[in-house]
Amino acid sequence: MFILLNIKPGKDRRHYLAKIPENIRNYIIKRIDGNLFHDYLPKNKSLKILIRCSKCNLERQSKAFDIIHKKSTLCSSCSQKEKWKEEDFRNKSIKTRKTEGYRNQMRESVIKSELWKEKQPIRKKSLKKYWEKIRGYKFEDIEDVWYIYRKTVYKMSGKSYKKFRNLINPDNLPRGRNKYHLDHKFSVLEGFKNNIPLYIISHSSNLQMLKEKDNISKDFRCCITKEDLFKEVFGTWRLSYGY
Ligand SMILES: [Zn+2]
Repeated sequence: MFILLNIKPGKDRRHYLAKIPENIRNYIIKRIDGNLFHDYLPKNKSLKILIRCSKCNLERQSKAFDIIHKKSTLCSSCSQKEKWKEEDFRNKSIKTRKTEGYRNQMRESVIKSELWKEKQPIRKKSLKKYWEKIRGYKFEDIEDVWYIYRKTVYKMSGKSYKKFRNLINPDNLPRGRNKYHLDHKFSVLEGFKNNIPLYIISHSSNLQMLKEKDNISKDFRCCITKEDLFKEVFGTWRLSYGY
């Protein structure tokens, strides 16, 4: 699944590369978007790169910014092993693991993950069925297109938000983890299924602020109909705000 980002080398990007220690740079194989790792890093925080563990040679994905901050090439299992060699860390971990609270937590999470695993094939099956039956092609065949659609919608929505921030988020609610998310009233997945143009899904009238918890429980459901969406974009919104 490759996405080509239009990245031009610039001063600010070289600045990020300068933060990566020389010894780590050699382990970076390539960026996940298929381009080779050039002499600069993009500013994109979530951009994934392929990196080789300097200890066990495992190739893994990582985020560009993680490499800068952690300043380590170790994979998670190697870095865990390293940590356990430290006596302080070992004593602390063993102590917390012996408490009743920790055990209960583990028990719960094991049960939860078992349940999730059980349901996973059913979810995948129904999704595949949906694409084959209703859309006439296999999900694997359009996975890339869906990925590009989603990515572009997020990009364009970010621009809409910047431009119409006062309308979308008039109370200036904080955005981020455990805070508020920028939500699409008519969901991105439904937009993709219905072949709705990118600019309509990313339109400022389709954006709202939602608490993280509510957004996760909303999943890919819509809180408005397709008709409402078009009415908003071409009617009400334009009439009241002039665009
Ligand atoms: Zn390793």
